[in-house]
Amino acid sequence: MIFKFGKKGKKASGGQGDDVEVELIRFQTEFDVKANEKLVRVAIEPLKELLTDGLTRRAETIRVDPKGDRATIGFLIDGVPVPAGRIPRQRAHAMTQMTKVLAGLNAGERAQPQAGAVKASLSDDEYELQVFTQPVSGGVERLTVHFRNLDERLDKPEDIGMTVELKTKIRDLTGSGQGLFLACGPSRSGVTTTLYASVRGLDAYLRDIQTICFTEDRELINITKFEVNPEDDLEESLRRCVRVEPDVILLDPVLDADVAQVIVGFHDNVGFMTEIAAADAVAGLLKWSEWIGDPALAAASLNGAISQKLIRKLCNECKEAYKPNPKLMKKIGLDPEEISVLYRKARPPEEVTQRGEEIEPCLPCNDTGYRGRVAVFELIEVNEEIRQMIASGADAGQLKTQARAADMLTLQKDAMRHVADGTTSLEELQRAFKS
Ligand SMILES: [Zn+2]
Repeated sequence: MIFKFGKKGKKASGGQGDDVEVELIRFQTEFDVKANEKLVRVAIEPLKELLTDGLTRRAETIRVDPKGDRATIGFLIDGVPVPAGRIPRQRAHAMTQMTKVLAGLNAGERAQPQAGAVKASLSDDEYELQVFTQPVSGGVERLTVHFRNLDERLDKPEDIGMTVELKTKIRDLTGSGQGLFLACGPSRSGVTTTLYASVRGLDAYLRDIQTICFTEDRELINITKFEVNPEDDLEESLRRCVRVEPDVILLDPVLDADVAQVIVGFHDNVGFMTEIAAADAVAGLLKWSEWIGDPALAAASLNGAISQKLIRKLCNECKEAYKPNPKLMKKIGLDPEEISVLYRKARPPEEVTQRGEEIEPCLPCNDTGYRGRVAVFELIEVNEEIRQMIASGADAGQLKTQARAADMLTLQKDAMRHVADGTTSLEELQRAFKS
């Protein structure tokens, strides 16, 4: 156990008169400083401090939400909301307007939602700040900023925690040169990362993979970008692409039935990999079937679906091993003979809490016990049983029961491997699967 006991208040650095120079975020954009002189004077420094604070604490999202004469600031860290204080409403307003100017939005427009982006850097890292404003009552706006680290490319299957077994299954499911493989998930859930990792797991040296993709700027090595004629519609583009006989075509996310029905017309000629917004893999398969409007045709066109969920990793500085109850272990499918300890966030011994002593918080994880996240996966393989069930209109519950009976990979099963090796805790699984 690495808990340090002692009185609170000892800081890692900085006593009196010890001025620590903090490096602040730098925006990579040009704007009319003169026209926004007042805004720059009052808002740019506090805005830089807030964004730097968020990035330093590994927030993926910052939200400034006006309420009454104040505005609350919230961070999203590893997918969990963390309150980050309150500031006067006027300052929040100025910071929101400043952000809008930086992101190329219309600062004068406050009645409509707006979205934009600005590039920035901190230390050696480059970020894209995706900026959203939303009017709330009283003529003020809520500001949301998502950070995207442009240097962090988690595109390889092993980078995002796919096992060799899972990679092999995806390769098998997409290897027939026909049919669809769907990556399913709510937006911003990491579904695009999963799709690209799945594509990267295919052997691009042995297979011809073409993409007809416009929305993503991710670089895909050994994958050919198909040159689309600007005057061609999707159907014509697919027809031309199929003629060069690729094994797999990677497509932009499918957003509606019209597009799905065009794609399904080619399912016999080529394999497709794409993304679909759905709660999980089974929901993705059913949505596809609904869009195609012909369950038998939909079922014939599908090979498989993957979805993922991000769970938090225990902080290596403050996690502790404990001996779990063998009965509980059996209940959750772990062998107590094989695994003698599990891990959780360290808890102070009872005598310390009883004395009312404060415990020095763990700095690397802000004392949350968790730092960073790992993806867990589920994979529905569309085998003959599942295909027939989709064709005959089975519901989500029936499909899930069948997938479990066939021992397919579920989120819970995949997550348990991270509990077994001490990457995460049972408490985190309870939290992640409750919501
Ligand atoms: Zn910690």
